[in-house]
Amino acid sequence: MLKTFTSKFAAAALVLLLVGCGTNPVTHKRELQLVSESEEISIGQKNYMPARQQQGGDYIIDPELTTYVQSVGKKLAAVSDRQLPYEFVVLNNSVPNAWAMPGGKIAFNRGLLYELNSEAELAAVLGHEIVHAAARHGAQSMETGMLLQGAVMATGIAAQDNRYSELIVGSAQLSSQLIATKYGRDDESEADLYGMHYMKKADYDPRAAVTLQETFVRLSKDRNSSFIEGLFASHPPSQERVAANKATLAQLGEGGVWGREIYAQKVAKLKATRPAYQDYDEGVQALAKGDTNKAETLAKKAIAIEPREARFQELLGDIAVKQNHNEAALGYYKRAIEMQPDYFRPYVQTGVVLNNLGRKAEAEPYLKRSNELLPTATSYYVLGQIAEDRGDVRGAMQQFGIAAGSETETGKAAIARYQRLEIASNPAKYLQAAAQADNMGYVYAVVYNPTEVTLANVHVIVVHFNATTRQPDNQSVSLLVAANLPPGKRGQLKLPGIQVYKPEDLKLYRVLVERAELAK
Ligand SMILES: [Zn+2]
Repeated sequence: MLKTFTSKFAAAALVLLLVGCGTNPVTHKRELQLVSESEEISIGQKNYMPARQQQGGDYIIDPELTTYVQSVGKKLAAVSDRQLPYEFVVLNNSVPNAWAMPGGKIAFNRGLLYELNSEAELAAVLGHEIVHAAARHGAQSMETGMLLQGAVMATGIAAQDNRYSELIVGSAQLSSQLIATKYGRDDESEADLYGMHYMKKADYDPRAAVTLQETFVRLSKDRNSSFIEGLFASHPPSQERVAANKATLAQLGEGGVWGREIYAQKVAKLKATRPAYQDYDEGVQALAKGDTNKAETLAKKAIAIEPREARFQELLGDIAVKQNHNEAALGYYKRAIEMQPDYFRPYVQTGVVLNNLGRKAEAEPYLKRSNELLPTATSYYVLGQIAEDRGDVRGAMQQFGIAAGSETETGKAAIARYQRLEIASNPAKYLQAAAQADNMGYVYAVVYNPTEVTLANVHVIVVHFNATTRQPDNQSVSLLVAANLPPGKRGQLKLPGIQVYKPEDLKLYRVLVERAELAK
């Protein structure tokens, strides 16, 4: 299968070189295939859902629209060079963007659908993304280790309006890297070129790929365009791309379906509710700036236009949390969950609010459910607190350990909590203990606390070793050295009746930390 694909690409590339386009889309990288096709498919399958979750979730209000986008995607996938378990979804995200994951998992933002004017333009974007998946561009990034450059990727994700990426923990972190992949110029040219071939084969007019690029060039001159953080972040439009697409068009020939009317009809409902989503997006920003009144006005305006949208209820919940109206917030989140049960965030929020209200047992299932949908540091952290309150130290450490994978304030707090618990569960590893003698030769058990944590009820056992055999021959009962031992302090206990007269004798006593607790 792969061979056919490569040779087809090679043949077409040769034609392209002959017409003098100057690009060489066949990449020799393809020979080095470290990620197998089945691994690639499994990576796509595992990461598709967390990636969609962190990009706003699926747009479920208009299932007919999703079916339509899927039908166009399927037509193009059917003529692609590599058969993959292709899937297409519309995301509830206003940023004009689209992405493909290894294994053929493709997502199209609501925000990009507003900007297109025909089915052929939709096909141009989908065809381009299908090539990225079919030609293994993402999988190659993984092989060359590009995805491991976490810091670089994190900036890329931030630019993609991903509010939650930093909070994602565990294996789902890969999903945010996969959708933030920036392909190289060669990959982009290849996706443009073969995307147009697919359009032609599926009976769409490939000229739509030229007009679309021209529109993008025009839009890219507007620095305030939301495209800047969306599609253009990974696909900077340029006159060169327009020229390359024109050359491809000359080769393929114009003609084919445009589907302007069907497109207009299918996106009519979406476009009619666009103002609601503009109000919502502004409302989210207003709330981030602390303007709850403005946020509330905007959320209510949005709901008046589109009462079925779960995100609008969630925004009302967030506003209520900010105003300390916790009971009201729970009501809004409940409604958001009823409207869209498969989106993680209202579950996180419900769990956090319930925990703050002291309703820990109720909070737990919400936090667990949210982690199934998208594992976040927030949920793991709160689950850790709940486990700790219950006295489940091991469980709490496990939760804090996962939350610690996030480079956020929550992640840092989780590290601190984890360390506290670890110190308490294994104080001997952290506290320094020794036998010391005063100038009269009286022996003391001394414990020093070098950690950042105040410990309580620090107990030791003093062991005596035989001077000749060097084996322990006597040991004390458990002795309380310090009821309270703050960071950087030492505690000591005089061992009754024990006196030494030379330094060698002191060396026969060893002080072992037996147990300690976290100070309340
Ligand atoms: Zn691309």
